[in-house]
Amino acid sequence: MDDCIFCKIIRGELPSKKVYEDDDAYAFHDIHPAAPVHLLLIPKLHIDSLAAADERHAGLLGKLMLLASKLAKQHGLESGFKTTIHTGRDGGQVVFHLHLHILGGGKIPTL
Ligand code: AMP
Ligand code: ZN
Repeated sequence: MDDCIFCKIIRGELPSKKVYEDDDAYAFHDIHPAAPVHLLLIPKLHIDSLAAADERHAGLLGKLMLLASKLAKQHGLESGFKTTIHTGRDGGQVVFHLHLHILGGGKIPTL
């Protein structure tokens, strides 16, 4: 997706504070952290949102879940963390490339 900012980050056309990358996934620090640790984990495949995902993406989504836990541990969040996915305009989604928020390390937003 040419205009998608997260696709641009994956391609290196926009800067990011990368914390992880493999063939399928990319993770980086959120530019406006809502908690002491606030990472974004994205598939390299452009999927607009969780609502646009289907059975073909089941393995990829499972991989992202397990990666979220691994990244949280790597960032010292042994005592817990929050994962959030905003879906669609009414779900508070602003960037339409599926992403998981990983939040922790102190005071985190409720809900
Ligand atoms: P949402 O779509 O509501 O899950 O929110 C998108 C998230 O992406 C917000 O938390 C933004 O702070 C974050 N964000 C937007 N642009 C960038 C960027 N260039 N680098 C890192 N994080 C970003
Ligand atoms: Zn994208």
